[in-house]
Amino acid sequence: MNGRDGRRFRTGSGCYKCHCCGRMTRSTDNSNEYLDLCYQCYELAGYENMISDAGGIDNLTREGPDEVRRRIRSYIAEIERRGGDVSQWKNLAATAENG
Ligand SMILES: [Zn+2]
Repeated sequence: MNGRDGRRFRTGSGCYKCHCCGRMTRSTDNSNEYLDLCYQCYELAGYENMISDAGGIDNLTREGPDEVRRRIRSYIAEIERRGGDVSQWKNLAATAENG
């Protein structure tokens, strides 16, 4: 029963705080919202899992370690540029810098 009683108030559709870098972000067409992660952190988390599953960044053969390093660095740089906290990604950043 929604109608004239004011209950159709919408809470800011898809705006939330990334619990990783702390930035306010907006959900895109991605499925990152359920994790409360912004796009960049979501991608970084994915790479972190991939690297962990592969047993090291150099074992990533599908995208190639160099490409993965480049992407990780660019996502982290983007978070920093937008004022986010990248301390969560310290280890991943270090991984991306080697080699
Ligand atoms: Zn984030």
